[in-house]
Parts: sequence; C-alpha cells; structure tokens
Amino acid sequence: MRADPTHVETDVLVIGSGGAGMYAAIEAARAGAGVFLADRSLIGRGGATVMAQMTVAVALVAETPDHWSHHLADTIRAGRGLTDARLAHLLCEEGPDCIREMDTWGVGWARRDGHISQAMAPGHDRPRCAYVDFLNTGPAVSKTLRTVVNRTGGIRKAGDLMIVDLVRRDGEVSGAVALHLATGAPVTIAAKATIVATGGLTRLYRRNSASANMGGDGYALALRAGAPLVDMEFVQFFPIGHLAPRLIGMDPIMWDPFRYKLGGRLLNAGREEFTARYGTPEDGRYVVTRDLATYAIIKEVEAGRGSPHGGAYLSFEHCSAEALRQAFGPVIDRLAANKIDLTKMPVEVAPIAHYHMGGVATNVRMETEVPGLFVAGEAVGGANGANRLSGNAITEALAFGRRAGRSAAERACGARQAFRAADARAAIDLVTADGSGAELNTAAMIQTLQAAMADDVGPFRTQAKLERAVGVIDRLTAALGERPAGDSGAFDMRRIEWLDLRNMLLVARVVATTALRRTESRGAHQREDFSEMVPEWQVNQTVRMRDRRIALASVPVMVEVAAQ
Ligand SMILES: Cc1cc2nc3c(=O)[nH]c(=O)nc-3n(C[C@H](O)[C@H](O)[C@H](O)COP(=O)(O)OP(=O)(O)OC[C@H]3O[C@@H](n4cnc5c(N)ncnc54)[C@H](O)[C@@H]3O)c2cc1C
Repeated sequence: MRADPTHVETDVLVIGSGGAGMYAAIEAARAGAGVFLADRSLIGRGGATVMAQMTVAVALVAETPDHWSHHLADTIRAGRGLTDARLAHLLCEEGPDCIREMDTWGVGWARRDGHISQAMAPGHDRPRCAYVDFLNTGPAVSKTLRTVVNRTGGIRKAGDLMIVDLVRRDGEVSGAVALHLATGAPVTIAAKATIVATGGLTRLYRRNSASANMGGDGYALALRAGAPLVDMEFVQFFPIGHLAPRLIGMDPIMWDPFRYKLGGRLLNAGREEFTARYGTPEDGRYVVTRDLATYAIIKEVEAGRGSPHGGAYLSFEHCSAEALRQAFGPVIDRLAANKIDLTKMPVEVAPIAHYHMGGVATNVRMETEVPGLFVAGEAVGGANGANRLSGNAITEALAFGRRAGRSAAERACGARQAFRAADARAAIDLVTADGSGAELNTAAMIQTLQAAMADDVGPFRTQAKLERAVGVIDRLTAALGERPAGDSGAFDMRRIEWLDLRNMLLVARVVATTALRRTESRGAHQREDFSEMVPEWQVNQTVRMRDRRIALASVPVMVEVAAQ
C-alpha cells in the first residue's frame, strides 16, 4: 500500500523552467509571492531556451533608430493576418526592458562600439536581433536566469517533477498533481495561482529541434483543465535543420547565421544547386526564403534527388579555411570535435519542426479563461499569428514570463488555498496505478505518431494526408487505453511514455484537425489542395474540450492594440 502523496503548498506554482518559467518565478517572488518552480528536467536545462543559440529580437535603438512599433508592424505582417495584436504589442513594447534587465544581470550580449550589437534577420525591417556571440545566446540566457533564480528569496525549485494534471475546484485551478520521476512517487501541489510555461510541441514530429520534453504537455494540461487553445494548426518548420553526420552539443538550426555570413551552397544528391528549379537561383548566396527552401528540399527528396539521409547537402567547401575560421570562430572547433571538417565535406540538412505558433489563449495579463491558470512563453498562442519572426520566441518567453509572474502574484497574494485532495484523486490514480498486463510498446507508439505527423501533418498538407494522420491518432489512442502502462517505480519509462503519449496524442489530434478544417494556405499552414490564402479564413481557430472530445470554432482576430 502506497503512502499518501507528498504535499506541497505555494502561492504560485510555475510549471517549466525555461526562459518563461524562470522569469515568471523571479517576477512573482519579487512581487512578494512564495513560488514553487517545477520542471520535469533539471531546473533551467530542460527545454528550448537552453538550446537556442541565435538571436533575440528587440527594438533597443542600439544599432539603428528603431521603435517597438516598427517591431510590432513587422510581427503583425509576418503573422499573415492572424496575429493577436494585444500580445504582439506586449512582446514588442516590453521586450527591450527585459533585454536591458538581462544585461544588468550579466548575460553578456555581444557589443559593438559600446552598444549592444543587433543583427539583421529575415522579416525585420532593420538590424534588431541581439545575441551572445558564437551561438551562446540560449545557454547564456538560461545560465543568467538560473543565477538570478538562485539568489532570489522565496523560490523553491524541484527538478525531475513531471506535472501530470492540473487540479480544479469549482472551475478554478487550485494546484496540480505530479509524478516525481526519480522515485515514481506522486506529489500534490496546492497553489493559489498556476503558470503553465512548458514550451512547445515539436517532439510530435520525427525530425525536430526539440528536447525530449517538448511533447506539448502544457497544451494538454490547459485543455483538460478547461482553457481554450488557439492557432494550433501553425507549426513552424525550419528548412535547414541539421540532419547528418551526427552532431552532439550543438543547436540543430545552427547553420543559418553562417549562411548569412558565407552564403553556402544547398545541393542535391547530384551536387547541383537546385533552388532555381523552384523559382529562386542562389549561386552560392543566401537568398531563398524559408518556406521556399523547405518546399524545394522536400520536392527534391520526393523526386529521388535527396541526400543519403533524406535531405539536401549544405556545402561551405568553396570557402577558404581562413574565411571559415573567421565566420565560425570557436564553433569550428566544436564541429571538428564532431568530426566535421567543412573545408572537405558538406553536411546534410532537412526541414525540421522547430516552433509552435499556437498555444493557450490568454489576455495581456497572461490569464487564461480558467481562473487561477496563467500561461507564458511558447505555450502561449496568438502572439505570432500564422508565422513567427526570427528572434521573437526568446523575447516572448521573457516578456510573457515576467508579465505572468506579476499577474499570478497579484492573484495569489491574500488569496486562500482552494486545493482539496478529493479533486486530485483521478490524477493521483494515474501516477500510482499498477500497470495493466497489456504489452504496450510505448516507445514504438511514439515513433509511429512522430512518423505520421511528419509525413502527413508536415509543412505541406492535403485532406487525404491529414485524414490518414487522424486515423493513426485514433488507432494509437485506442491502443493506449485509460489505464497507464508500467508501474510506479523510479524512472519507469513505460509509465512516463504512457503519460507522454496521453498528452502527445491529444495535442497531435488538435493540430491535425485544426489543419484539416482550415481549407486554405496561410503562413506555416500550407495545403497543397487549397493553395490560396482565403479572406474568409482570416479568423483564429480555437479548440476546447467538451465531454472529453475536442470542439473547434472560428473567432475574430484580436486586431486592436490594447493599452498595456
Ligand atoms: C534548437 C532551438 C533553437 C532556437 N533558437 C532560437 C533563437 O535563436 N531565437 C529565438 O527567439 N527562439 C529560438 N528558439 C525558440 C525559443 O528558444 C523557444 O520558443 C523559447 O526558448 C521557449 O521558452 P519557454 O520558456 O516557453 O519554453 P522552454 O525553454 O522550452 O522550457 C519549457 C520547460 O518546461 C518543462 N516541462 C515541459 N513539460 C513539463 C511538465 N509536464 N512538467 C514539468 N515541466 C515540464 C521542460 O522540461 C522545459 O524545461 C529555438 C528553439 C530551439 C528548439
């Protein structure tokens, strides 16, 4: 017989310790709230933030004259008519302040002539992207926030703690139930306010830039707790994600900045540049847009002209060793440690799932429709519409995290705990149940789902492909059943993967069915059977859970820039 769950009480529970979660924890603590910061990985090392090695978009007015309203105009343009202007406004106006605060915390933004340097990136009308040099942006952001979390009083931290479900009382979120991965034990957390900062969903796809923890947990937690999701059909693919040879300890989207510096050649199996076939010749320069590069690589592979692992070659072999050393800096040594010598060999690249524009619907206080539930970072939907601008994701993590922390603290201070153990019973049962005898191969099921999502819910979709994916999701959902596999021992992967699949299948269904319903092409959602952007579809799709089924609806886009 198991002992009662370990019980924790806090003012503010923050789920996820990426950029958004850590900034939220710091801000909530500064506002006087007691904070419990939980992550299924190590604190500050689990999700996308620590992996992001490139840039952060903000109108700092450091490199050139700029204003947050110009950044906002670019963000709204990139979103192809679907951007939630209230959230984009918050991102663009408050981003610079967060970046300057990070500067005072010693993040080490690259500087030129005494000011923070800002690079040009696609879709921005001027140099606007701050960075920590030589691919160190995300690691430096994470390390800085970890340091500030550690020195800020009032924040308790718990790694290896996977939140399994939110707990509700009378329609309000009153806390959560977690699985402590290292012991297999259940943990209940009573919280006056809860912030979902769990990042994105790109683990749903076979090829992705994600860490293992990015299976869309937060979307599933919020949906089951009654909060609507928005824009879930918009998954951003990055065209030249690293494919081969094996590359350890590096960002899989690392090649882009070097393409800017050196050009580089995208080649097919016959070692020919091929983008001209799709409308844009490159001739060793870097001019092809991300959507066209994605399309061109996928079509070359389909035509049997792909590289051995199913992508394209990216070659810098025409560049001198000196030019490579100057452009890549110490990165050239990290590549050498991976046995990659760019003077002698190309690498293979392919489109990979990289970021999710959709997420939990929220207002500018980062409150969801469910009282007590807040959201921050990539888990938020709407700020980037149908397509995200380069560099906006870290900015939204910081700006939304800070706002969510403040709002959650305001709710929590003076409030009473509403948590009751009885409301947590069903979730505790999932954590503690003895596994059924069914021989589920959960690892193989995850691979099947990832293949279906990559093949049929990828960058280019059709009704037939999307329906096939929904069929796979139906079959896997039926096979998964209601009773968890595995047991409640320490690090039982079958139990963990069963819980992962429960979330991944729900979220995959949401992505596939919203994509099926949107019969047009817009931004990151490209339908080969509906190739035009249709004015009637300038609406956001929302998804709610009703009677354990998902319900889709269209709602007008929030176009008004509200007072913050
Ligand atoms: C390789 C890569 C490179 C990128 N480069 C850039 C870039 O240069 N510029 C840019 O703007 N953006 C970039 N992005 C996107 C950007 O990094 C992310 O959108 C952003 O960092 C997300 O921050 P976050 O705090 O919302 O989530 P994350 O940093 O992903 O953190 C989420 C945390 O939640 C935890 N978690 C998840 N589920 C649970 C659960 N059930 N219980 C407990 N904890 C949970 C995870 O372990 C993780 O620690 C990149 C992304 C990747 C993957």
